[in-house]
Amino acid sequence: MKLELSMTSITEAVPQQPNGHHMVNGHDENAYVDVTEQGRSEEKPLNLWQRFKKKMFRMEMLLAWTLLGVVCGIALGAGLYGSHLSKTAISLIGYPGEIMLRSFKLLILPLMVFALMSGVFALRSTKTGSGKVTRWALTYYLLSMIIAVVIGIVCVYAINPGRSRPFSGSGASGACSAKNSGEVQAANSTTKAKTTVDSILDLGRDLIPENVVQAAAAPNYLGVMVFVVTFAAFLIKVGERAEPIIQMIEVCNEVVIKIIHLVILITPVGIASWIATAILKACSIKHLVSSLGLFIVTVLSGIGIHFFIALPLTLLVLARRNPLRAFKSWLPAFAMALGTSSSAATMPVSMECGIKHGCNSGIVNFVLPLGTNINRDGTALYEGVAVIFICQAHGRDLSVGQVLVIVIVATLAAIGTASIPHAGLITLITALQATGNSEFLSDLSLLYAVDWILGMFRTVCNVWGDACATLVVDAWLKKYGKGIQMSPHEDGETLKLEEGLERKDSIITNHAE
Ligand code: ASP
Repeated sequence: MKLELSMTSITEAVPQQPNGHHMVNGHDENAYVDVTEQGRSEEKPLNLWQRFKKKMFRMEMLLAWTLLGVVCGIALGAGLYGSHLSKTAISLIGYPGEIMLRSFKLLILPLMVFALMSGVFALRSTKTGSGKVTRWALTYYLLSMIIAVVIGIVCVYAINPGRSRPFSGSGASGACSAKNSGEVQAANSTTKAKTTVDSILDLGRDLIPENVVQAAAAPNYLGVMVFVVTFAAFLIKVGERAEPIIQMIEVCNEVVIKIIHLVILITPVGIASWIATAILKACSIKHLVSSLGLFIVTVLSGIGIHFFIALPLTLLVLARRNPLRAFKSWLPAFAMALGTSSSAATMPVSMECGIKHGCNSGIVNFVLPLGTNINRDGTALYEGVAVIFICQAHGRDLSVGQVLVIVIVATLAAIGTASIPHAGLITLITALQATGNSEFLSDLSLLYAVDWILGMFRTVCNVWGDACATLVVDAWLKKYGKGIQMSPHEDGETLKLEEGLERKDSIITNHAE
């Protein structure tokens, strides 16, 4: 029986042995554990192929593989563009991409359910006495995420990256045909027939579905999300008796994330295939490339405004702290976030920055891990921009009510996003479905092509959002929190918080693997 040693966590500083091999969890990473017939475990060296496999299929290599997939996809698509391939040939080229997309779609519901519930469960270690701190943190998280989505929406309407309607002939909606434009027009006319009041009333109906199973199948993920969050919140209230179910759900969340890692392994091939097909089906490559460029500019502008203006303003107004000093303290965490595209992997560095900055260690130990799990300003902004961009790119107009739905869905989707690379793109599937745009799901492959860069900046923004939350709650604790003990080992409550942190840490390490 063979048990491979766990993959190196992105966060781990891996010590070297004299022979140049790295040690992981005290083991040689170039070895595997073989359990003998007698039940004894022995470390055996990996052969050349096993070592190659291990090196090439680790998370750090994903960026390189994905970029290679993107380049191959573009080269294949551009090379064959204009050679009038048959429909069957195009379907065959797009087949691996189709399988990849189906795998992601398959995982949406379990991921959304387990990730959202785990996010809510992260709060349960805080029930004793620190309710005030939790409320402050949650209020700030929500406020900053909604501000982020609104900034993103203003940017996307100001820049209009999809104005040339580059997707109107690509993706799920088929080739450049009259049928396609007819479909979008029909969708638009139904949308226009609805008044804003109708849309808002429909939003209420979506939030409270009549039947949760039907909502999951429809899919009305907004309704499912509301049900899931409510269910998890009441599960916590049950107390001790609910603990086995809570743990089971947390384990399921870890398992789903592991399956996602597995699917991610096929993404370089899937991406290459899907991008090539999208280019082959596109009416105009020029419009496609310029729109994606404008999309990147839109997301980065939104993130820039949120990062350099909105978040520092919240620090100044709500906490009366110097944003520049805080910014300098968190620079190592920003570098880590850029390098790993994972806020989970960045969390230990971010905590170190918080402590060095002089924040209360209890607040750092509590607000940062909680934020890493549920507070994602960059992701929320991205989700809102991406949904509207895809609609624009297909020529679909949105009513005020629908934009309101996007604000809510983008925030919820960001909360349900895992703190790992490209996770925001996976929850974008949920956001598209929840906003009634499921037919545009296949366009995600095009967004995947540029996600290596957007994912990096989303993550930096997420990390800065968590840092600002920590600073604001720290300031509020000093101002209004007389009697609340948050420093380590000062009382039982803090110990409880640390226990919670340990549990989250183990989940986070798994995410980052
Ligand atoms: N990679 C981001 C993070 O770890 C999540 C995302 O993809 O938006 O925070």
